Amino acid sequence: MGPNVAIIGAGFGGLCMAIQLEKAGIRSYTIFEKGSDVGGTWRDNTYPGAGCDTHSHLYSFSFERYSSRTRRYAGQPEILHYLQGCADKYGLRSRIRLNTAVVSAAFDESLGKWRVRTSAGEELFDVVVSAIGQLNRPQLPDIPGISTFSGAAFHSARWDHSVDLAGKRVAVIGNGSSAAQLVPKVAEVAGHLDLFQRTPNWVIPKQGIDFSPRVRTAFRLVPFLQRAYREWVYRYAEHILYPALAGGWSTDLVRKYALGHLHEQVSDPVLRAKLTPSYPLGCKRVVIDSDFYPALTRPDVDVVTDRITRIVPGGVETVAGVREADAIVYATGFETSEFLSTIEVTGRGGRRLAEEWKDGAEAYLGIAVPHFPNLFLLYGPNTNLGHTSIVFMLECQVRYVMGCLPQLASRGPMEVRPEAMDTWRQNLDRDMEGMVWQAGCTSWYKNASGRVTGNWPGSATAYRRLTRTPRPEAFQFAR
Ligand code: NAP
Repeated sequence: MGPNVAIIGAGFGGLCMAIQLEKAGIRSYTIFEKGSDVGGTWRDNTYPGAGCDTHSHLYSFSFERYSSRTRRYAGQPEILHYLQGCADKYGLRSRIRLNTAVVSAAFDESLGKWRVRTSAGEELFDVVVSAIGQLNRPQLPDIPGISTFSGAAFHSARWDHSVDLAGKRVAVIGNGSSAAQLVPKVAEVAGHLDLFQRTPNWVIPKQGIDFSPRVRTAFRLVPFLQRAYREWVYRYAEHILYPALAGGWSTDLVRKYALGHLHEQVSDPVLRAKLTPSYPLGCKRVVIDSDFYPALTRPDVDVVTDRITRIVPGGVETVAGVREADAIVYATGFETSEFLSTIEVTGRGGRRLAEEWKDGAEAYLGIAVPHFPNLFLLYGPNTNLGHTSIVFMLECQVRYVMGCLPQLASRGPMEVRPEAMDTWRQNLDRDMEGMVWQAGCTSWYKNASGRVTGNWPGSATAYRRLTRTPRPEAFQFAR
């Protein structure tokens, strides 16, 4: 036995939490999943070309490699299959309640437990672990006239597979990582594609999606090589990519790499100028793709930079006139800055999480919030990364929560001290100053007031060190 744990979400984070509970012999947990299957973002994003631009060997649990080791970068079906396989292998399915959304969670001080309300009723838990992700609520743009469009229209994360885009005029609004992956695939079948770009993105190549047969054989015969490869990928990200985001030695190197990629792929100077960002590399999430630029050079693809004024029944109206469209794909990103506060969460003294976070979401280590005992967040505020795998961060967070469980079991509900939160905030603000995300650009890393609430400003290694073991002195306990 052990504490009774409610896990919200069955994506990478929720499954990782459940697996570690299982490994520790704690079976008193329930995963609440609002969707009809496990997989989180990899269940929801089924757009053509969907995949991960982080190396598979790092974008996977350290304790469970992809069974198919044939690809350097996994596609969405492969990742979803991997997560479904994890749920099966570790026997999690019987503990997962699918199609069950958590509506609210309230801490009952007299009982020292959480009242978790779902669409199916209310249950008591000792601990709540939120694993709802940062990129799970599609954001439609605030462009007037959206509802007047007469053709098919959908968000990239809610792809409508019943719509046949073959031969059609397709408008894609947005040019982030999702658009970069779907545009090349859609352009192959569409009659014409207009990509509406408001701000150009920095793009670096995603080379060698498949491993060569020789490498695959070597991986199969010498398992140690896979661990070494994972380690190499991790170090490359930490020592070359991370400094480029922190104003370090590689800033210029990575910028030149991206510019070289643009020059190599796009020969038309007018198009190249349109695609050249004017803000520092990394301020917005860098796009990692080798097919995006070539798709934009196709004769049947136009990059439209005229400002969109409204959507009309027949297409997209810009300041330069109407661009006709049969279908519109909104690759316009996600609502990212609210985190768990989209669920009604009430802590000690009736404090509402949404109210506590009205000036910006924040949590100690991105995991714990003062006045909310025994509530732990995975992929919470300031734990996103711009350079390496979020699965690594999730594993750090899960290990931390596992370290908290014996403490709260023996000393009662634990709650991070406001002083620890203040120190955390000060350090975060200090470290954030040197990061490129603060430069003049808009991005989903920031909330409405411009505060970076998404990202962790340190290296992944520094985060692992900070989260290695919970410090009891940072918490107050009921007993
Ligand atoms: P995104 O990066 O937030 O991009 C949204 C795009 O929509 C931007 O180009 C934005 O333009 C545009 N946009 C938003 N509102 C608009 C409006 N009113 N008018 C015109 N354009 C508008 O979203 P995303 O591409 O879905 O990617 C989100 C994140 O998901 C990524 O950054 C990444 O972390 C993750 N992702 C990862 C992978 C992977 O391979 N690992 C793949 C896909 C997504 P502005 O830039 O001007 O705001």
